[in-house]
Amino acid sequence: QNDLLSATGTTIFTVMSALAVQHGAINLGQGFPDYDGPDDVIEAAAAALKDGRNQYPPLTGVPELRAAVSAHNRRFYGIEADPNAEVIVTSGATEAITACLMAVLNPGDECVLIEPLYDTYLPVVRMLGAIPRLVRLSPPKWELPRAELAAAFGPKTKAILFNTPMNPTGKVFTAAELAFIAELIARHDCYAICDEVYEHLTFDGWKHIPLMTLPGMRERCMRIGSAGKTFSLTGWKVGYITCDRTLASNVAKAHQNLTFTTPPNLQRGVAVGLMKDDAYFDGLSTSLQARRDRLAEGLAALGFGVLPTKGSYFITTDFRPLGFNGDDVAFCRLLTEEAKVTAIPVTAFYASADAPNHYARFAFCKGEAVIDAALERMRIWM
Ligand code: PMP
Ligand code: GLN
Repeated sequence: QNDLLSATGTTIFTVMSALAVQHGAINLGQGFPDYDGPDDVIEAAAAALKDGRNQYPPLTGVPELRAAVSAHNRRFYGIEADPNAEVIVTSGATEAITACLMAVLNPGDECVLIEPLYDTYLPVVRMLGAIPRLVRLSPPKWELPRAELAAAFGPKTKAILFNTPMNPTGKVFTAAELAFIAELIARHDCYAICDEVYEHLTFDGWKHIPLMTLPGMRERCMRIGSAGKTFSLTGWKVGYITCDRTLASNVAKAHQNLTFTTPPNLQRGVAVGLMKDDAYFDGLSTSLQARRDRLAEGLAALGFGVLPTKGSYFITTDFRPLGFNGDDVAFCRLLTEEAKVTAIPVTAFYASADAPNHYARFAFCKGEAVIDAALERMRIWM
């Protein structure tokens, strides 16, 4: 059997969701909305299902969706991408991340990763025989440690993989931070895999900036989006990659060997979604911001240390002010078992045991009544 997989545990999201079910807890752990995506998107997919769109679609995605991804790139970021040669549709951002890493990494290459990091990054980098170089952001500000980042790049660096807006920190990388990263990428002649699944989920006027829009970065970046996040349809698993045509050919071959294609009916729905008017995208962030505020205020009132969230589905909290002295895994387990509310221990986003272990992540992509009920359960528990 494969040693790396044997050594990999079941993802924390599955573990905590199962624990939530077991204890009848309100699940503010795994990041999925408890409301449905837009009707017209769902109807377009349903119509496509009934309309015989059920056989293998083109390898890189149905033409309507590739055209919509290209138009979306132009509309929001001024990125010009050829829908026939620079857009690849995948089965979720999860596949997209793997396909992009496969496209550029050879065994022995180094890949820079930023901690806290999403749980699929490290195992995939390792499975490819590449060497992860981890750079850690520290709470509560999660600022980019520039000297450490610069030191992580070297002659063997082939790529950097990072996530903005960022899960679990809620950080949105600033223009200055991105410019610093871009300079390192150019200097070391390498690539960037940009996990931008939360691109439309930013708050308080914070705007997501794709690294790809910075000077010199168009040819070096693989930019990843997800219909799961942009249309509140996390079970659909439709992702999309935008990259230069010189990279796209390898990315497409990786996709060919991973899944080959992605369900055509769902792709048709997502194409309708990406063509929705600006009001949809504005409304998405406005409604999430209200949910964020509701949960953040409630958690603060309960005594949690609430770290600011500028984007994503998540709030990171420090539970030490509550007087709990155990670690985050113990806290999240106790919260699930006793308060009947589930959160995610933030150490799950770190590679080693020396991570800060007093933070719990709560998801706010939930109905107001559910957020209120979770807060009330915690209040009674305390
Ligand atoms: N990247 C990040 C940072 C995520 O939080 C997630 C989870 N939704 C993904 C990638 C995976 O996205 P998808 O469900 O489209 O595979
Ligand atoms: N991205 C989601 C989260 O961070 C979970 C996705 C999954 O369960 N793999 O909660």
